[in-house]
Amino acid sequence: MEVGNIFRHLLVHNEAFVKKTDETKFLAYATHQNPYITLLTCADSRVQGEILGIDIFNKVFIIRNAGNQVAINRGSIEYSILVLNTPVMLVLGHTDCGAVKFATHACITQSEEIVNLAKSFDKLIKTDYSKISHEVKSEMLPLTIPIERGIPQLEKIRNEKKELAYLSQINVDYQVEKALKYYGNRVKENKLTIIGGIYDFVGAYSKELGRILITNINGVFNTGELQEMARKIIKRIPSYNESSEGYKLVCQLIEEKVTRIES
Ligand SMILES: [Zn+2]
Repeated sequence: MEVGNIFRHLLVHNEAFVKKTDETKFLAYATHQNPYITLLTCADSRVQGEILGIDIFNKVFIIRNAGNQVAINRGSIEYSILVLNTPVMLVLGHTDCGAVKFATHACITQSEEIVNLAKSFDKLIKTDYSKISHEVKSEMLPLTIPIERGIPQLEKIRNEKKELAYLSQINVDYQVEKALKYYGNRVKENKLTIIGGIYDFVGAYSKELGRILITNINGVFNTGELQEMARKIIKRIPSYNESSEGYKLVCQLIEEKVTRIES
């Protein structure tokens, strides 16, 4: 899109938002906020707050960077967890992540043996990243640490869509591990639950495009244990009747969505 149109959109669309939004919504929270989710996610333009399916105003404190990395925005994360006291931190990676691809490329160009480990690497190896600036590289290269952990497992997956999604999943595990290092005490005290997930818009986990898969809870990443934890968390809702249709639906969604790409 051309800059004139983009600038026009900026003026016109915000004005449309102002007109359609009841001002009491702003006035009620003019001097304070009380979000309940700290969302650490990737800056990718295909990942937006709307995927949570709720009006995220005053509910979600969003921190974004390439590759959803804890280390880059420690201050903002800490503000949300320790000052705003959000009870949930969601570390959300996604499929087809450019930062994961960049770090994977950096790993596979180091060794010919690695190149043959996964089908998706054939295309990736041809990508030219030589013109990328030092600043971009230095922000994304720390991702080679989790990617190197995941690469040896790819041989057992052998599915193009799942391979890169698996590396995003391993990165989320790593970022949850980092968050637990800093905020594990709050998790032990039941003040914080750290959830890791993948937003799947390519169908790596199921045919349902746009699903958020839960792949890690407080550092637990075995599918059976994860689903058990998810059911325990749901049972904390005081008024939940286990014979109700709503409860049955949630249990079915746990079966389908609290799951991992196993290697
Ligand atoms: Zn990304």
